[in-house]
Amino acid sequence: MISASHIKEIAKKAGADMCGIAPIERMKNAPPEMNPGLLWPNVKSIVGFVFRIPRGVQRGIEEGTQFYQYPSMAYGGINEILAPAVLYHVGKAIEDEGYEAFVYRNTGARGCVSDMDGSVGATLSPEEQIEVNENAKNSTAHHRSVEFTRATRPGENVPPDLQFQFRICAVACGLGEIGWSKMLLTPQYGPLQRVAFLFTDAEFDEYDEIYHGKPLCRKCGACVRECPGHCIPPIKGGKKCTASIGDYVMEWGDIDMWKCYAFYTHAGRYFNPFVPKEVWDENKDGALDLMEGKAEASEHEIMKVYTALQKYFPTWVGYNMAKCGGCIRACVSMLEKPGGCMHGRFKNPLRTRTKAWKVDR
Ligand code: SF4
Ligand code: SF4
Repeated sequence: MISASHIKEIAKKAGADMCGIAPIERMKNAPPEMNPGLLWPNVKSIVGFVFRIPRGVQRGIEEGTQFYQYPSMAYGGINEILAPAVLYHVGKAIEDEGYEAFVYRNTGARGCVSDMDGSVGATLSPEEQIEVNENAKNSTAHHRSVEFTRATRPGENVPPDLQFQFRICAVACGLGEIGWSKMLLTPQYGPLQRVAFLFTDAEFDEYDEIYHGKPLCRKCGACVRECPGHCIPPIKGGKKCTASIGDYVMEWGDIDMWKCYAFYTHAGRYFNPFVPKEVWDENKDGALDLMEGKAEASEHEIMKVYTALQKYFPTWVGYNMAKCGGCIRACVSMLEKPGGCMHGRFKNPLRTRTKAWKVDR
């Protein structure tokens, strides 16, 4: 038995902004391929960590003046540097007590089911496909291997890599709720955070309750309106996803994830100032049909988009060049208004104009 407050104190000292602890049973409704309770037989508890995203990394996108701080700092910086350091610190403290710390950093596209559509056999991300196409003779698509993954103890475990749903796990740890946009919302930071987890065979003296406070999602529809790809269904009558932890039911909009994959990186004709108007107008070989609303989203269409537009990226930052930020900025703007959970946190609002920018072309 470990003291939860002791571990939380270590987590906060190490750099986590929030820490929540839950018994592993809370994830038991997850499909086996996404159930962290199957990581190993003795797992008893989940320790969840929240790392806030400084609002200022969205400022450049909000103004349309600077785009790479968000993917580099708020994706890469947190996922690759800050969160792993905290996982090491807290993991060591747990192991010093004689229990194991199975650290689990944030990553995607490694599961034995696709994190895009849940289909069996992970798919390559477009960047990886391009990399493989271009370096076919001397590069191995490491994610491709998970398509052929097999259970090491059939009937007892599931094929590697077991990848669970981070946001549901964060809810299980009492850290917040899932908003209509599928983002994790916390009372402290709204949609501005990333998460990481640690699993352990330790039991804790106390566990966090699931968040039951005032609803954080205002069901305002701002994320729906400001998505450049119309990827988020309308709140009224739109298709939903639901999941439950015991009696607690979560629901969110059934986002067109493949379409989002194209739009959050490339943003589209009106929201990507790096791609010249002529490129959108020419739409060579129909490569931009998806972005122009002339084709449904599919892996094939997305490959066409990425191949056509990758040369317009000002730089790679190790992570997708997120140019959109539409739903996250819309959400912050709404949650900063009176009645929202972020109201009063900043002296000035994120959005200082009446509307987000849109390039006139
Ligand atoms: S990240 Fe961008 S493209 Fe994806 S759902 Fe949000 S607003 Fe839409
Ligand atoms: S923008 Fe509004 S509807 Fe969308 S997640 Fe945020 S609060 Fe919920």
